[in-house]
Amino acid sequence: MKVVLIGVGQAGGKLTQALAEFDHRMGFDAIRGALAVNSAKADLQSLSIDTCLVGQARVNGHGVGGDNELGAEVMQEDTGEVMGQLDGQITAEAEGIFVVAGLGGGTGSGGAPVLVRELARIYDIPVYALGVLPGRDEGAMYQANAGRSLKTLVREADSTLLVDNDAWHSSGDSVGDAFDAINRAIAQRVGLLLASGEAIEGVGESVVDSSEVINTFKEGDIAALGYASAAASEDSAENVTTTMSTARQALFTGTSLPDARTADAALLVVAGRPEAIPRKGVERARRMVEDETGSLQVRGGDFPLDSDRLAALVLLSGVERSDRMEEFMERAREANEQQPESDADPAAQFQNDELNDLF
Ligand code: GDP
Repeated sequence: MKVVLIGVGQAGGKLTQALAEFDHRMGFDAIRGALAVNSAKADLQSLSIDTCLVGQARVNGHGVGGDNELGAEVMQEDTGEVMGQLDGQITAEAEGIFVVAGLGGGTGSGGAPVLVRELARIYDIPVYALGVLPGRDEGAMYQANAGRSLKTLVREADSTLLVDNDAWHSSGDSVGDAFDAINRAIAQRVGLLLASGEAIEGVGESVVDSSEVINTFKEGDIAALGYASAAASEDSAENVTTTMSTARQALFTGTSLPDARTADAALLVVAGRPEAIPRKGVERARRMVEDETGSLQVRGGDFPLDSDRLAALVLLSGVERSDRMEEFMERAREANEQQPESDADPAAQFQNDELNDLF
């Protein structure tokens, strides 16, 4: 799937760069453009991808702190500048746009939904969000910001792929190490998902098509991604069990939203050397994903990749009713009540919560 990435805020910029680097290193060429947008000049200076500074008139390059309403405002005022810089990058071959952001901060949390809305207004291709949820131990402001940002993203984006900061790293990591580990995991896993619809030079055609990724996203508002890998035998017949156990692990312990398993649609991609991928194993694993997610729309396919491992990627779409989402929205709602501006109009509801949309 050929995409253009736009990272908003600090986490968004770092993740966008990590994704672009992984795609380049692997020779996938799925990422056709990468832009980092921020109101904090210093955060942009450490990046090597294209950058765009917004909100200079309001915050003079110093960022918006944790104020995501201000983040939304400065993005709204400067969308013209961002769109101008994207001109020529979003060409006819692009099949989707991803706006990438940490949802708990200010610039990304507020700016990403604004940018998604503007992009969706201008371009005919799907506009997705890749959002990072704050971990449980992050403060109330992060939880409240993320709740409002997510609610607005769900309204504006074709789908929002979520990664919880409590997933995809070891519990012993310090915060800094954890971010690095999570960013590497996101770059690899989301990078593989995007590349799975691309033909890779030297290893033949992929049997997963971009349209299968797009059609899976289409079935829900919120998506999660599961991943696991294991050493493969050279003989595909010996890999039937490995394929099953890897797919189970991706679904049960490897998802970007821990414990999100109920889904409206799913896509299972098994990556590895073509001769090592067992047809029977992929089909069995696909049926297992059907049983476990309760979805009858589980697509499946393989992704030829020159590696001595087998990897299973499971894209779950429509996880908004999962326990994990309920738990997060409850946390965000409680955190919002502790904030001074919490006396807002509870009219617009997402899963019956009292969080206001950002705009
Ligand atoms: P912004 O620059 O104002 O948009 O704020 P940040 O991008 O720093 O967003 C803060 C949120 O993103 C918090 O919930 C952090 O935990 C998270 N965050 C910040 N940096 C990173 C990072 O490099 N990786 C990940 N996974 N999360 C991050």
